[in-house]
Amino acid sequence: MSGSAERKLIVAIDGPSGAGKSTVTRALADRLGYINIDTGAMFRAVALMARRGGIDPEDENALGKLCTGLDIDFDRSDGCCRVLVNGEDVSTAIRTPEISLLTSVVSAKKVVRDYLLALQRRMGERGGVVLEGRDIGTVVFPTAQVKFFLTASVEERGRRRFEELRAKGASVTLEQTIVEVEQRDRQDLQRTIAPLRRADDAIDIDSTSLTLDEVLEKMEAVVRAKAGRQ
Ligand code: C5P
Repeated sequence: MSGSAERKLIVAIDGPSGAGKSTVTRALADRLGYINIDTGAMFRAVALMARRGGIDPEDENALGKLCTGLDIDFDRSDGCCRVLVNGEDVSTAIRTPEISLLTSVVSAKKVVRDYLLALQRRMGERGGVVLEGRDIGTVVFPTAQVKFFLTASVEERGRRRFEELRAKGASVTLEQTIVEVEQRDRQDLQRTIAPLRRADDAIDIDSTSLTLDEVLEKMEAVVRAKAGRQ
């Protein structure tokens, strides 16, 4: 069936940090002609603004006030997706190890999750979207037509994050990066609100020994088969 006759679906990609969700989500969206929504970047943006504002990440009231004053959006004009907060491009500032850990704390707060949940639903409800996160298939869009749970071993995820940070000039060690990945896994799995959880109807993809193209081939085939079906 041709692309134009296919339905525009909601595709959810969940999984732990470093499993390759961002790269896969962007590339899959490109192949399908969908837009990609990086929900982790939205949580990171809130964490960055909390840090800049000197807000205690345990202070839900202050976090709530902060959220209502934020305008979080994506600029896709140069092909890749820039994250904008109140018009400022924060794409680089939200990717430091410090903001990664703070994000994990801030994202466990109900007030932050509620604010971003509404925003994520508005951005995705019309379909033709690939959303990546931790709770897309379970909480944000439990009725998404296609759900993937993307994983890889903790060593592999640590190694990928390490390469990524090193390419950006960060002075980190592989051991330290693996420990941070494990620490974030624990925080994301153990929190009471929207913990990282595989949806019962998600399709598991372990990317430890697959190439990016192999992962994409599998995913695209599933989405196209679903989209062609009435
Ligand atoms: O995917 P990324 O590593 O950018 O996500 C950063 C953090 O944001 C995660 O460690 C997690 O704590 C949080 N997050 C979340 N729910 C999502 C996406 C990300 O709690 N849907």
